[in-house]
Amino acid sequence: MIILLKKEAEESQVQGLLSLLESKNITPHISRGSMQTVIGCVGDVSHIDPGLIEALDAVEAVQRIQEPYKAANRKFHPDDTVVDCSGVKVGGGNFSVIAGPCSIESEEQICTIAKAVKASGATMLRGGAFKPRTSPYSFQGLGKAGLDMLLAAKKETGLPIVTELMDFADIELFNDVDVIQIGARNMQNFNLLKEVGSYTKKPVLLKRGMSATIQELLMSAEYIMASGNPNVMLCERGIRTFETVTRNTMDLAVVPALHRLSHLPVVVDPSHATGYAHLVAPVAVAATAIGADALIIEVHNDPPHARCDGVQSQTPAMFDAMMKKIRTVRNAGLS
Ligand code: PEP
Ligand code: MN
Repeated sequence: MIILLKKEAEESQVQGLLSLLESKNITPHISRGSMQTVIGCVGDVSHIDPGLIEALDAVEAVQRIQEPYKAANRKFHPDDTVVDCSGVKVGGGNFSVIAGPCSIESEEQICTIAKAVKASGATMLRGGAFKPRTSPYSFQGLGKAGLDMLLAAKKETGLPIVTELMDFADIELFNDVDVIQIGARNMQNFNLLKEVGSYTKKPVLLKRGMSATIQELLMSAEYIMASGNPNVMLCERGIRTFETVTRNTMDLAVVPALHRLSHLPVVVDPSHATGYAHLVAPVAVAATAIGADALIIEVHNDPPHARCDGVQSQTPAMFDAMMKKIRTVRNAGLS
């Protein structure tokens, strides 16, 4: 249920309404937007008579929300959410490019790549220390040692860092991490979502599961938000279809579709979506034009020798050339 307030509603009336809702075991989420102030109600609203609420002086209208996602719903929060990643803003017209290797391999590797992508205009650094690999025999990431290397690259470049948390038992190692990535394979690890949501308000980059629907992605965001963390960024990284020419299938219509359904920023990952370095720039450019709030791109200084996802990794030179095109699209104001 959402309650639309009148423009002239007095603060004391609003506070009275919030207390009334809380006394009925409803958690109110107030969103003071540019056009309208909205109170989203989370909890069992079946015992509330909308007519009684509508009769209050401060209230313009009461609407039921059909969708199962509430806090993530655009109806709850009409304005775009802007997620602040240690000073780098994503959403609401703020555009960001996150870049770096699939996995951290050495301090020299991550620092070299970090400096290169920063020089080309990246605003955040990615790098995996805990890697979800299909095969138990593949490189699993450097773990804590890798995180320390990523922190060294953060110190050297000043770029906020994004890295994947696979197991909540590792959360204390993430104190100086700026954005926690929840990977595609963990999108429906509901315990992990609840634990992260209740432990921290740090931004979470939530990747779409490879067989998840858009509604399932939004329900996973809802888990994090309902647990107390509103700073969620939705990441489209392609889904599995019958197609084999690309690693996954990227449906860019997801970007405007998500923007319509939700106020959360939408990040596009053309690296995992396509699986091939030569496809990354065209999809990144298209994602920028269609309105993505951020891109996340895999970049490696020596892709043929990368320990993970080398085939889809751009070289720093490819990344630099792509960034020039992205700036052209942004400056053209298409999105
Ligand atoms: C990654 O970002 O390197 C990764 C493993 O992504 P995904 O979870 O989308 O497969
Ligand atoms: Mn990868």
